[in-house]
Amino acid sequence: NSVFAHVVRAPEDPILGVTVAYNKDQSPLKLNLGVGAYRTEEGKPLVLNVVRKAEQLLVNDMSRVKEYLPIVGLADFNKLSARLILGADSPAIQENRITTVQCLSGTGSLRVGGEFLAKHYHERTIYIPQPTWGNHTKVFTLAGLTVKSYRYYDPATRGLNFQGLLEDLRSAPAGAIVLLHACAHNPTGVDPTLEQWEQIRQLVRSRELLPFFDSAYQGFASGSLDGDAQSVRRFAADGGECLIAQSYAKNMGLYGERVGALSIVCKNADVASKVESQLKLVIRPMYSNPPIHGASIVATILKDRDLFNEWTIELKEMADRIISMRLQLFESLHAKD
Ligand code: PMP
Repeated sequence: NSVFAHVVRAPEDPILGVTVAYNKDQSPLKLNLGVGAYRTEEGKPLVLNVVRKAEQLLVNDMSRVKEYLPIVGLADFNKLSARLILGADSPAIQENRITTVQCLSGTGSLRVGGEFLAKHYHERTIYIPQPTWGNHTKVFTLAGLTVKSYRYYDPATRGLNFQGLLEDLRSAPAGAIVLLHACAHNPTGVDPTLEQWEQIRQLVRSRELLPFFDSAYQGFASGSLDGDAQSVRRFAADGGECLIAQSYAKNMGLYGERVGALSIVCKNADVASKVESQLKLVIRPMYSNPPIHGASIVATILKDRDLFNEWTIELKEMADRIISMRLQLFESLHAKD
């Protein structure tokens, strides 16, 4: 008899479970609207041309080896990732008051950030929007934080419940962590306007809340990398502190490469370097160090002007197609009314 005989079957993950059902389904008309992965007009996964090019460059470079990366990952990747989300002219970068560590995509970045906060930050409560990506609650709970929610979506207007959001953040305990979707809020697609972001920023700073940005879709909301980073950049530019989890799953189509970054913007360079030393202690017993291939692809693209420009064009094509597909779906549903 198995020593595991008592183990009960766990339910499928509600999102990934849709893929399991999809793969089983024999219908030629099937469409998988579960996992948020980009598909071409033919319904196929897309590898960006610029990613293929970067991979060719990496394969042809015989000086490249498969040694372990440092605990914090690839240095170039980290530097360029911070610049991508904060902007090349970011005061936080110029003042060297930011630490960036390569993590296992967006999920891993959230988890490492969560564990760091549970260990070293005085307020263990994190407020997440209602609704939010289903994994947030589990990631932060397992990291050792207490998860509460703030009002976000108003079904009546199918828009932002801005008053509810402000009220809930105003009554959060001073110092509480607040998870904010940098853009393309999942699952609602509803984002605050720039004016609303400014009000959120003022409230967050006046209540001394700690913002934790989840940036899983930079470039996917508007087609512009800079446009989609405006929320984060305002917070990083006001001199205050924040955390940022970045993912390259969607905007570079690197889903399975698991490439992302956690940045912690600190008050000064001394704090940032001490924070980094503690991030290493979180990472080392979890997975030792991150994988090299995906981060090398990203660094190759981000550091070359031509490849970077090519990426922005392919990214905009994906974003434009998503926007146009949604419009067509909306219009066809309307026409059926
Ligand atoms: N945050 C949000 C809001 C997401 O939608 C996703 C992916 N669906 C992630 C984080 C994590 O994605 P990954 O770990 O693949 O980067």
